[in-house]
Amino acid sequence: MYERAEARIDLGALRHNCANLRARLGPGVELCPVLKADGYGHGAAHCAPVVAASGADRIAVATAREAVRIRALVPDIPLLVLGALAPGEVELAVGTGTDIAVWEPGFIEALADRAAATGLTVGVHLKYDTGMGRLGCSDPEAVIEMARSIAASRSLSLEAVWTHFATADEPDPGFRDIQRDRLRELGSRIRQEHPRVMLHAANSAALIADPETHFDLVRPGVAVYGMDPFGVDPLEHDLVPVLSLHSYVASVKRLEPGMSVGYGRTWKADRPTSIATIPVGYGDGVRRALSNRGEVLISGRRYPVAGTISMDNLAVEIGLDPEVAVGDDVTLIGTQRDGRITAEEVARTLETINYEVTCGISPRVPRQGTGDPGTAEVPTAPVPGETA
Ligand SMILES: *Cc1c(COP(=O)(O)O)cnc(C)c1O
Repeated sequence: MYERAEARIDLGALRHNCANLRARLGPGVELCPVLKADGYGHGAAHCAPVVAASGADRIAVATAREAVRIRALVPDIPLLVLGALAPGEVELAVGTGTDIAVWEPGFIEALADRAAATGLTVGVHLKYDTGMGRLGCSDPEAVIEMARSIAASRSLSLEAVWTHFATADEPDPGFRDIQRDRLRELGSRIRQEHPRVMLHAANSAALIADPETHFDLVRPGVAVYGMDPFGVDPLEHDLVPVLSLHSYVASVKRLEPGMSVGYGRTWKADRPTSIATIPVGYGDGVRRALSNRGEVLISGRRYPVAGTISMDNLAVEIGLDPEVAVGDDVTLIGTQRDGRITAEEVARTLETINYEVTCGISPRVPRQGTGDPGTAEVPTAPVPGETA
């Protein structure tokens, strides 16, 4: 370890997951991996070039700044901003040449004016809210009207009508089917007027669970990174985790009964034992809620977190005659010999989802590419995480 903490990004696994997802698609269906939030915390600098060289037809992000960042990394690939754009983001997005999500007549008008002023044509993806209840227009007649006004605009081009699932990760397909059928129904009406418009809906869970959700394009995020959209074991769907999180043993010390570890003295030795201190903490995104609950791997064995996780350090109990020495590698997420800690396991301990575990790894942790990037050009030195 040259770094106190490091997220290793297995680029071979990333390529494998892209191929896995692609193989589930029928001919002509576009693969549009989602690289928002710095590639779910994995680092866009590594992920964007590899995904682009692994069969992605487009890349989706959430914000205008993310589109600018991906454009700098991959000059040619079509981009799509999925999220709402604040007034100040519109100019940035238009200038980047990304497609933009729309669902509101006033915004469409302002966007058309902005595009006309720059002499550009902006591709728009008209969002139909079929049940997420968040962004998008839930009135099909209003969606049809907006499609007409976009088609009539000289500075906008109607690329797609799309929706987003609220429950695709749940075992009961009922509501997902309702949402899918709503898009299919409105889509066929819209296509009578605008035959070339694409339809899209599927996130990772829908992509895996129901081929009928694929339509013309799929938008997988979490599965691209080898995490399981259903929160169980990614290997069940032949997804290989891309990120592993590493640190090392900075100090080992003996404790007598009654001695405590960490802020607030929440953990006390009840027998003679030892503690290893690992220089990684909540400032790196190792959540404080793992205090006295999380585990780490050292030499393939699990050791429990002892005491409160602080900003820069955490401690684990390693026992009286520890097989642990200063300098040993520590794995917080990933595999080590026979040991394995998944982001899904950490999420369960934290009562959250795997998405939040990797997104939460802070920019302070350098991302180091490993494995075979294929034909993609990726950084060889570690890259800090990105906040914007
Ligand atoms: C984040 C996002 C996705 C990807 O979802 P996953 O569950 O990570 O596959 C797809 N579509 C939209 C609109 C999103 O915001």
